[in-house]
Amino acid sequence: MTIPDLPSAPLRLRIDRDALASNWRRLDSMSGKARAGAAVKADAYGLGVANVVPSLLAAGAGDFFLAHWCEVPAMLQMVDAASISVLHGVTTPEEARFAIATGVRPVINGIHQAQVWLAAGGGPCHLMVDTGINRLGVQMTDLGNEVIGQLEVGTLLSHLACADEQSDLNGLQLSRFRSAAGMVRHSACSLANSAGIALGADYAFDMTRPGIALYGGIPRAEYDGVILQTVYPEACVIQRRHLSPGESVGYNATYVAPQDMEIATISIGYADGFLRSRAAGVALHHQGVPLPVIGRVSMDMIVVDCTASNTLKEGDFVEIPFDLPQVSAKCGLSQYELLTTLGRRCSRA
Ligand SMILES: *Cc1c(COP(=O)(O)O)cnc(C)c1O
Repeated sequence: MTIPDLPSAPLRLRIDRDALASNWRRLDSMSGKARAGAAVKADAYGLGVANVVPSLLAAGAGDFFLAHWCEVPAMLQMVDAASISVLHGVTTPEEARFAIATGVRPVINGIHQAQVWLAAGGGPCHLMVDTGINRLGVQMTDLGNEVIGQLEVGTLLSHLACADEQSDLNGLQLSRFRSAAGMVRHSACSLANSAGIALGADYAFDMTRPGIALYGGIPRAEYDGVILQTVYPEACVIQRRHLSPGESVGYNATYVAPQDMEIATISIGYADGFLRSRAAGVALHHQGVPLPVIGRVSMDMIVVDCTASNTLKEGDFVEIPFDLPQVSAKCGLSQYELLTTLGRRCSRA
């Protein structure tokens, strides 16, 4: 049977593309002489590459960073292979063959990866040097290795561990990165992520790699009032009902009505990224009226107290709070986790 068009989703993310473009332009101008790229790994931090890349391209972005090779095909629909870099590099010959066949550049992260790349035929690549995050990247002591010397390095990269804090490690990584740049042939340098851009011109080099701040994250106070909220989740009221005093709500009956109440069941749950930690003390909104979340978050539903709203009815959409720094401070999830755990059932428009 042919499946008819789906009805519109009861859970949706509105993406403010003007805010997204504005965020990229602010980060690009704060990058000074360096150009800003864009980290679009993990499907653009959960927003969907197809929803964000056209706006980033129109704003002027020309360099895109992915983590996995499986993220490449969707990007190739929109941008040239040469403007895509895959941060995890090539661990297997299969990955190296895929890189060569597509023309997408791997970021080589160590001697093993360099050997895999060269054995597959090699060609232009990038090189990540680990200056102190101790996570991924060729170690400073391996930079002189002859295998590394054989690479055709476009951009020499490193990644800051503590750019969102005042930390001595920032300056130390900067000075190590400068010495690394003296040890390897390369045509450009890139160090700063979103937070690193705010550390100043010394950190910008030729290209910066913002991610979280494009999508409305505020990793440092310098971005307050500069970076705009980009993602607005909204969910449908699937039922409105009365609750009598002494009746409980949801699994484990953790909420008991102190008096007569009106409640509404909303189509968002932990499977959609509204984790249980996000419920405490939180209200959704409808036409400016706060609707406090009550009881346990279920997989597909939450319940709100809507006694304050006479007008809220089944089929209405309510706003889920998603000011990233505020929500993060309240629930303890990082701004990155809030974005990347947005569920696949939300429509994105
Ligand atoms: C994810 C990532 C970025 C972007 O970082 P944000 O903190 O989101 O701005 C930049 N560079 C590398 C290597 C990354 O892995």
